[in-house]
Amino acid sequence: MLLFGTAGIPLSTKERNTVSGIERIKELGLDAMELEFVHGVNLSPQLAEKVREAKERLGIRLTCHAPYFINLNSAEKPKYEASIKRIMDSARIGSIARVENVTFHAGFYQGGEPEAVYKKIKGGFEKILEGLAKEKIKIRLTPELTGKGSQFGSLEELLRLASELPEVGLCLDISHLHARSGGKYNTLEEFNQVWKQIKKSLGVKGLEDIRIHISGIRYSAKGELEHLNLKDSDFNYNDFIASVKANKVGGIVTCESPNLEGDALMLKKMYTK
Ligand SMILES: [Zn+2]
Repeated sequence: MLLFGTAGIPLSTKERNTVSGIERIKELGLDAMELEFVHGVNLSPQLAEKVREAKERLGIRLTCHAPYFINLNSAEKPKYEASIKRIMDSARIGSIARVENVTFHAGFYQGGEPEAVYKKIKGGFEKILEGLAKEKIKIRLTPELTGKGSQFGSLEELLRLASELPEVGLCLDISHLHARSGGKYNTLEEFNQVWKQIKKSLGVKGLEDIRIHISGIRYSAKGELEHLNLKDSDFNYNDFIASVKANKVGGIVTCESPNLEGDALMLKKMYTK
């Protein structure tokens, strides 16, 4: 089964804090929320405890997004180390709040040969996994399918990473896939192909608990330009919802449209109809 939630605190939350956001998710009839650490890990351990209490009390599922400034392919050691630290910090705080997975954009090619970039970034993941094991932190790493061709994170790269490192999953940003491919991945047949590809790499299990990001999107030949509400975009969300139902896809869908809960509720309604 698929659950639906927002990227960050719903817009209609009266008090702008994470606990109120979780309460608002419940009131709206949604199921999940993504904690946005995109501009920095801004949650204290004390607050993370309160977030955990709220999510457990209300039965809301949590995911998180690590800071944007991450590049596991950086040739500059301080930048590489800072990238590892940003993911580790997100995981540390996230695990106190019982967040299930941490999503991030893993890196940039910066003109590098894709195979070499893959190896370097995989090395970063191994380092993070070692750190998590050492600190006994249980959280899944879910690198995101990125919206531009200049960013590491094609569907093929992420599936390879997830099949080579069993503790790693993926965040299938379906709108990024659409933008990255210059408008492909927008028909029932193309969506079905994605599920088939995931099943082939990760087995049925890979489809049962996946993380999905979705929004309307504007793009150019170079990929993503900006997020839009679904109705203002060319993204074929009707066929997308039909395809997840037909393929029995399970997990959490996080809505990243500017209207956040507006589109999340619309999608949930379509899905449960
Ligand atoms: Zn993202």
